[in-house]
Amino acid sequence: MYLWSTNLSIDKLLNLNKLAANGTQTTILQIVRDNSPISRSGIVSLTGQPHAAISRSTAILLSKNILVEDGGTDTKGPRRKRGLRLNPDYGYVIGIEYGPDGIEAVAMNTAYQPIAKSTKTIDLANRDQKEILELICATVKSIQKDIKMPAAQCLGVAAVDPGLIDDDAGISALATTMEHWNNVPVVNTLEEQLKLPVLLLGTSTAKILAVDRLELNNSIANLLYIEYGKGIACGMKLNNTYISGQGHLAGELGHLQISNSQAVCRCGGVGCLEAMASLTAIAKTAAAGIESNNSSLSQKHELTGMDVLRAAAQHDRLASRIVDEALERLGVAVAGIVNILSPKMVLFDSVINEAGSEAVAVLMRSLQKTVLASHRRQLEIRISSLTSHIGALGGAAAILDACLTA
Ligand SMILES: [Zn+2]
Repeated sequence: MYLWSTNLSIDKLLNLNKLAANGTQTTILQIVRDNSPISRSGIVSLTGQPHAAISRSTAILLSKNILVEDGGTDTKGPRRKRGLRLNPDYGYVIGIEYGPDGIEAVAMNTAYQPIAKSTKTIDLANRDQKEILELICATVKSIQKDIKMPAAQCLGVAAVDPGLIDDDAGISALATTMEHWNNVPVVNTLEEQLKLPVLLLGTSTAKILAVDRLELNNSIANLLYIEYGKGIACGMKLNNTYISGQGHLAGELGHLQISNSQAVCRCGGVGCLEAMASLTAIAKTAAAGIESNNSSLSQKHELTGMDVLRAAAQHDRLASRIVDEALERLGVAVAGIVNILSPKMVLFDSVINEAGSEAVAVLMRSLQKTVLASHRRQLEIRISSLTSHIGALGGAAAILDACLTA
């Protein structure tokens, strides 16, 4: 039950401060992470391992201050038992996500609680590598100053990259959204500058990890997370394994061809979901429709996809028509993936909520209608409650996961 894999090269993090010394300790830490507070007997019943072995390893983790114990909060048994938790004061990690629109960072304590966040909105699309790497380092150092724990307690940094990554080499090979971002030695450069272990991972992996750890407590073995924004992508966890595919390129839901339309996509194709239904696409469609319509959007100077979603929530007719059509298409595309992969849960990006309850209902109906009856019966569809810094949170969770693994 607790076997899972992130397909990340965590064994390459040579200087990582491992909190678990062996497999039993790893199992205990992962169970406490997902079920805290939990008693020793709770851990015994989840693992099936002998009580003595669990007690011994738990005692070691308590003596090292990796776990803490509080009184009587595990109410599942007949007696009040003491509950084990990860110690939030043991240390912290930093997740940093960068892309064409800027840099977001999160510091997270060792109990998976975010303790500081920062956002730097800056156009990185055309900057050179050196400048971007310097900005990333400066952001890490600045968030370290914002928190109370000393820098020595920082266990590591995760760099969440918008491009195609070679995680064996620690290199970002290519990013279509950042002109000069190719063959960048991210791991080596940041480790040298920051004197900390650095993990490099892609955005999709980071985002599904964030919702899985922070929202679902790792409770769903078969999960799809649908990212919705300027692009559209799909994070996948199947049979408790995150799917990243050859070259970490899995999940390009946005480039599923869904229409005979000649709408050109940024991938070079035509009729892609992204070209028809993303935030960029609905902004474009709305801009073209404003002239001939009496819409509240005509007052906007530079129209964005978020403006269109919010106008739909306010029942603007033009916006509603465009957003409903986009979400209908998104629903059909996601249903196709559901029919192939049979997840237990589909979790949508919280951005969808901006379109208002009626548009959300259109999405749900279109998905339900297109999913096979057999799949529909067991499927749960939700909108995520994580609203910001999702990639950075996932990066932080990824490196903390690595620390918990012997
Ligand atoms: Zn495309």
